[in-house]
Amino acid sequence: MWEPLLVFLMFCRSSQAFTNRMHSTRRSPLGIVHTFSGMDIDRSRVEAELKEASAFQNALRSHGAAFALFHGTSALVITDSPMKLAFHDAEKLQTLYEISLQQFEPSLTCISNDVGNSIPIYPCIALGASASGWAFAVDVSNRSRNEFEVKNEAEGNLRFEPVRALLATLNQRDIAMAGLGASTLAWHRQHQFCGLCGSRMVAVEAGGRRACTSETCRNRAYPRVDPVVIALVQDPVRDKILLGRQSVYRPMMYSCLAGYVGPCESLEEAVRREVKEESGIDVGEMSYHSSQPWPIGRGASCQMMVGFTATATSTEIHIDTNELEDCRWFSRAEVAEAEELVVARRPGPSDESSKTLSIPGPYAIAHHLIKNWLSTTKAPLQASGRNKL
Ligand SMILES: [Zn+2]
Repeated sequence: MWEPLLVFLMFCRSSQAFTNRMHSTRRSPLGIVHTFSGMDIDRSRVEAELKEASAFQNALRSHGAAFALFHGTSALVITDSPMKLAFHDAEKLQTLYEISLQQFEPSLTCISNDVGNSIPIYPCIALGASASGWAFAVDVSNRSRNEFEVKNEAEGNLRFEPVRALLATLNQRDIAMAGLGASTLAWHRQHQFCGLCGSRMVAVEAGGRRACTSETCRNRAYPRVDPVVIALVQDPVRDKILLGRQSVYRPMMYSCLAGYVGPCESLEEAVRREVKEESGIDVGEMSYHSSQPWPIGRGASCQMMVGFTATATSTEIHIDTNELEDCRWFSRAEVAEAEELVVARRPGPSDESSKTLSIPGPYAIAHHLIKNWLSTTKAPLQASGRNKL
C-alpha cells in the first residue's frame, strides 16, 4: 500500500508536477472546468491565516490587497473589451468613493473604538490569495450604485452588472470570484439576526462565518450551499433523451430535469423522485457525471449542481405543470442540431412557433450532460432490453 504513496510523493517533488496536480484538482473527472469553478486563487489560506480579526485587518492593509465591489447581486465590472471584474486598491477606494478600510465588517472592535456608528459600514469578505496579494469582496448596497458607475480614462467604464448576465463575458477566474462574492455577501445580508435568540449577528473569520453577539448564546452560522441534482435521462432503446422547459425559458429552450435534494435523501433517490414528479418517468441505473457550483440560485443562494446520467425504465410522460411547462423526448438528430447552434454561437429560436430545439450554453452543466450523451454511440439495445434495466 506504500508504493502508491511513494509515487505520489515523488510526483509532488517536482514543482511543475505539483502545479499540474493543483490544476487537475480543479477539473471534474471528465476534465471539465465548469463555470464558477476553477477560480485559480488560494481559498485555503483564508481559513488558515485570516480567522483572527487582527490578521484580517492586516490583510486588508497588505501590499497588493484588491477589492471587488458588489451591489445586491451585481458586481462592478470594467465594461471595456474584454470585460473584467473591477478591482481597486485601498487608496482608490478612498479617493474614488470615500471608503475607508476602518468601515469594513468584520472589524467590530475597530469600528466601536475608532469610528462609531454614524458612518456606513461595508460588509467585506476575503475571497482568497493570488500571487499579487489578497482579494476581497465588499458590499456597497447601502449606497447608490450611481456613485460607483463612473467613467474615466484611468479606471475605464465602470458599471454594476448582475452576475447572471456575466456568464458569457467574464473569464473563468473573474466569473468564479464574482459568483462567490455576490452569493456570500447576499448570505450575510440575509442572516442579520440569530435564529436561536434573535440577537444581532456579525461577520467573523474573514466573512466565512456569522456569530451571535449574545454572550449567553454564541450561535454560529455558516454559508449555506443547497444541493441540487440534475439528470440527463436517456432512453437507450429509442435513442432519445428527456428534456423539460419552464415558462421562464426562451422559446423552444429545453434542459435537463433538476431539483433540490430533500432532507435524509440520497442524491440517487433525489434523481428518481424529481424525474418521477416532474415527468412521470421512472429511472433505473444512473451514473455520476460531474458537479457545478451555481451561486446565482433563488435569492442569490449558492447551489451545488450534481449531475447524473440516468436510464429511463418507462416512456409515457405525465407532466407536473406546477414545475414544468413542457417535457418531451428528443431524438439524437434534434439534439445534435441544437448543439450545433451552440457551437456556432447562433441564438436559438426567438418565437413560440419555431420547432427548432434550443439547449443551454457551455456555462451550464446541462450542456455538458447533453454533449456527453451526444458523444456516445447509440446503445445496441433491443426493445426487450428495457425490461432488464
Ligand atoms: Zn443567538
